[in-house]
Amino acid sequence: MPSPRAIHHFVNGRSVPGASGRMSDVFDPNTGRVQARVDMAAAQELNDAVGIAKSAQPAWAAANPQRRARVLFRFKQLLEENMNELAVLLSSEHGKVIADAKGDIQRGLDVVEFACGAPHLMKGEYTEGAGPGIDVYSMRQALGVVAGITPFNFPAMIPMWMFSVAIACGNAFILKPSEKDPSVPVRLAELMKEAGLPDGVLNVVHGGKEAVDAILDHEDIKAVSFVGSSDVARYIYSRGAAAAKRVQAMGGAKNHGVIMPDADLDQVVRDLVGAAYGSAGERCMALPVAVPVGEDTAERLLEKLLPEIGKLTPGISTDPDAAYGPVVSRAHRERVERYIQMGVDEGADLIIDGRNFELQGHENGFFIGPTLFDHVTVDMRSYQEEIFGPVLQIVRAGDLEEAAKLPTRHPYGNGVAIFTRNGLAAREFASRVNVGMVGVNVPIPVPVAYHTFGGWKHSAFGNANQHGMEGIRFFTKIKTVTQRWPSGKLTDQAFVIPTMD
Ligand code: NAD
Repeated sequence: MPSPRAIHHFVNGRSVPGASGRMSDVFDPNTGRVQARVDMAAAQELNDAVGIAKSAQPAWAAANPQRRARVLFRFKQLLEENMNELAVLLSSEHGKVIADAKGDIQRGLDVVEFACGAPHLMKGEYTEGAGPGIDVYSMRQALGVVAGITPFNFPAMIPMWMFSVAIACGNAFILKPSEKDPSVPVRLAELMKEAGLPDGVLNVVHGGKEAVDAILDHEDIKAVSFVGSSDVARYIYSRGAAAAKRVQAMGGAKNHGVIMPDADLDQVVRDLVGAAYGSAGERCMALPVAVPVGEDTAERLLEKLLPEIGKLTPGISTDPDAAYGPVVSRAHRERVERYIQMGVDEGADLIIDGRNFELQGHENGFFIGPTLFDHVTVDMRSYQEEIFGPVLQIVRAGDLEEAAKLPTRHPYGNGVAIFTRNGLAAREFASRVNVGMVGVNVPIPVPVAYHTFGGWKHSAFGNANQHGMEGIRFFTKIKTVTQRWPSGKLTDQAFVIPTMD
């Protein structure tokens, strides 16, 4: 068997082998085999990359904003041209099916398109005559070197949420992607170089806690954008803020879908199956909790849901007929299975058990069959915590008031959906629910690139969302100039309007 390929850092426009001597295994989730090994940086390697980024940043910031945007336009074109190759690479390390992998890239590309508008979005404000002969204007300037730390579940979209906006605004960027699927982030950096980005402006440094801590402690890194699980997000937020950096740290989720008695149940079931099981449930905007309102709604829902779940067939990630692929790692599969056992032990009704699912010919792949629990209650730990697998939990509610309390009181507050034909009920729900992103008859309410993405409560720490104007604000600082030009001989001369003689 050939030895696994090595995945190196990408610094100063070239591939840089690691110096720490430490590497981490990258699996093929379809087979369970190690397919590559990625370098894990020591703090010094991270510091070296920051030094390079710091040297490259002033010239990049000084390039006019349109020139910066042109690089992103070319990058967007390269993403489109390389979509298939990127999707196959992404799917081979993450395990999501090709259609989902393309979606991952496309959602990042949407933010690249948004970032192409940075010349306009960065413009400041101007007040003429704020006092006698006094004008006031403001400008947005880059922060300097900034960093992004990203999770495994969207290895294309989430790095692009961050670096495309930061770089369009004139910053240099250090990306520390997930060590579980690191190849696509490197490929994205190579394509940015091909698009004309000067060396050193975008650097990819792989690693774990040591590299992350080096980012959080480095004096020259002015802002840190993080997406991952909540415990790590809270840690990143506290340590980064203690080092006086700007920090946005998005965490985990447990999104509820409230199903009113008047909802179109056929549509709800289609939406629910896609949102709960798609991408093996490894989405922070997945819908793992269904809340039918009223016993009759619950029974009708189950009647329609069971046959649809029965039709779902997990398969290898390149199988176009697979509903979803394997989860990312053996450890993650074991974690999901522990949560299923916990649900059983806590007294929930396990209607469909996806444990011990085996795909013929891929017995060592990290597959989990679709799993369904009914009669889940709020006191259960398996309900309170994020499972992040193909597991749907039904929590029955007596009325809308009781249903709305569930997402409102849950520790996470990323996304929520309500399915109904009643506009007033939906409006009230959207207004009162204590969650950051709300869908009305939309199961996965991920906002478009020119709006902003971000949850509430334990789903996000810090006060800035990803992309949209929030992204531009996060990656720039504002400077306000108050100016007065006293009239004098020299000044008067300078204002003589040239004539055409
Ligand atoms: P994770 O928290 O394990 O890892 C995220 C990043 O942090 C990785 O780069 C990892 O190397 C690093 N990291 C891990 N442990 C660390 C530690 N102890 N100290 C410092 N750095 C550490 O998350 P994951 O498993 O890669 O991703 C899945 C999680 O991300 C889920 O909880 C999911 O809900 C969440 N997520 C949230 C959003 C959102 O926008 N809210 C989006 C996608 C994923």
